[in-house]
Amino acid sequence: MSLKLQEQLNEALIELKQSQAREARLLSENRAILDAISSITVATNKQQIFKELKNVLSLYINFSDFIVLSKNSDESSFNTILSSNPNYLDITWPSKAKFSRAILGECIILFEPNKLEEFSSVVSTSQSCIQSALVTGVRATITDSVIVMIGHKAGQFNLESRDTLSRFRPLLERALIDIERTEQLQQLVDVKTHQLKIAQVKAENANEAKSRFLAMMSHELRTPLSAVLGYIDILLGDVDCNHQLEILEKMESSAELLLVLINDILELSRIESGEFPIKYQWVKLKNELNFMLEHFTTLADAKDLKLNVNVEFNESLSIWVDSARVMQIVFNLVGNALKFTHHGHVTLNVSIENKCLKIVVIDSGIGIEASRLDTIFSQFKQADDSITRKYGGSGLGLTISKHLVSLMSGTIKVESIVGHGSTFSIELPISIKHSSQPNVTQPKRKLNSKQGLNILVVEDTETNQMVIRLLLERLGHTVTILDNGLKSVDFIKENMEHIDLVFMDISMPIMDGLTATKEIRKFCPRIPVIALTAHAMEQDKQQCLSCGMNDFVTKPIRSKDIERSIQAVIS
Ligand code: ADP
Repeated sequence: MSLKLQEQLNEALIELKQSQAREARLLSENRAILDAISSITVATNKQQIFKELKNVLSLYINFSDFIVLSKNSDESSFNTILSSNPNYLDITWPSKAKFSRAILGECIILFEPNKLEEFSSVVSTSQSCIQSALVTGVRATITDSVIVMIGHKAGQFNLESRDTLSRFRPLLERALIDIERTEQLQQLVDVKTHQLKIAQVKAENANEAKSRFLAMMSHELRTPLSAVLGYIDILLGDVDCNHQLEILEKMESSAELLLVLINDILELSRIESGEFPIKYQWVKLKNELNFMLEHFTTLADAKDLKLNVNVEFNESLSIWVDSARVMQIVFNLVGNALKFTHHGHVTLNVSIENKCLKIVVIDSGIGIEASRLDTIFSQFKQADDSITRKYGGSGLGLTISKHLVSLMSGTIKVESIVGHGSTFSIELPISIKHSSQPNVTQPKRKLNSKQGLNILVVEDTETNQMVIRLLLERLGHTVTILDNGLKSVDFIKENMEHIDLVFMDISMPIMDGLTATKEIRKFCPRIPVIALTAHAMEQDKQQCLSCGMNDFVTKPIRSKDIERSIQAVIS
């Protein structure tokens, strides 16, 4: 082989080795880029991206300091947002030509950077360290960023370092644009979340105000209605003429319907304002159901409907539920079934399956259109707008039932075919136990109150005073009326021996009924005190009893309630 050929071969070998080394370097750079991509994609802010970039670049570019500058697109100078050297942290960097070229995508080697305007704010001690620099930049949606790599030695950067930087640049650009978009979205989400929170608080306040208003209004409505029902009650006892009796009975049932409506609104507003405790206790549910269903037997007979009741567990089984609420739901569902059925049957099936109380009410009534099945559980919604006129009702019964079911962590469902009937199913999680103890349900009392008692009535509203006086006098009692609690305390002190019983209103001027009863109990434990109140809730009742009252009559005052209560407290 000639010498020339030998030389050519050597040169080719050297070139091959160089290109193999370059290839190896590029391969490792590519791997680094891939690694950087995965760490940069999980970065949650710009700082993290630049830190990651600095770590990767330090493997390939020999820089002394790494600085990142940033400004909003419309600003004329940059601030340092990241620096490996604290000397460069609090500096404002003028945005001049070299930086402008950098943010447009160039990678530039600066040979005497400390002479450039861009570096004019760097204090002279640090300036002397800036012997060379390698610069690039990125223009993202909102901000411009410049990466400045400082060399403490002259000529620290060469074309190879510049090429390496330019290979990493697209990755940086993508990452910055993405993070800015994410940050923008995050800001938008933060603003919207804040606005939503404000709107939610406003809506909750408004809802609370509405509930308070409804509660207050229904309370206010019950007071005059109380008088109307009381007067009707009195007249019913006095009238001889059949025609007048019929009119009075119609007036009574209308007023009672109005009362049901007001009570529904009051109840719903209490549920919505969260003042609705569920009271679990062990109950013999079968007996309670039977007792309640007696009411419906008459109703079903009157409409010539067959009322089937299948309770698939026996009396000895105790169930851990809020029986009052379960009864309320069953009452509503069976009531609806009877209301909307004209031929055939209404069937109530109650069973226990998989630790759930299953209540199913099936009727062969008018049914509900499929498109209305969802809305009937919403407030004031009825399956057919004409139904209000034809059947009456508020459209609140199912709403209340649904609320109660969900307060008890259960479910309520409906299936229906128009013209064939409906099936309402409820499932409530329960616990059960078998016990041989006697039934806890109170036996029904015979209504036969004691006669000729001396009764003190403490009530501030004149119409109520009149109604209760008439009702009590008709029952053969002697009545004294006072209009506030303080007077009643003084009166009982003076006349303790002559009073057999007190009916005490709760809300009164000067001294309310609860305070008055507490005062009376200090010196007189003997005389029974019966609360007269428009508040029908269990907690109100408890409050009355804990003040020393003996029983509780809810307004509107009805003669049968008064009789029952007198019977209960006078032994
Ligand atoms: P209300 O009975 O006071 O109108 P509810 O909330 O109890 O209010 O019922 C809402 C509506 O659902 C009723 O007006 C009626 O249209 C429909 N609905 C409820 N139960 C039945 C049923 N068993 N058969 C047919 N329609 C029913």
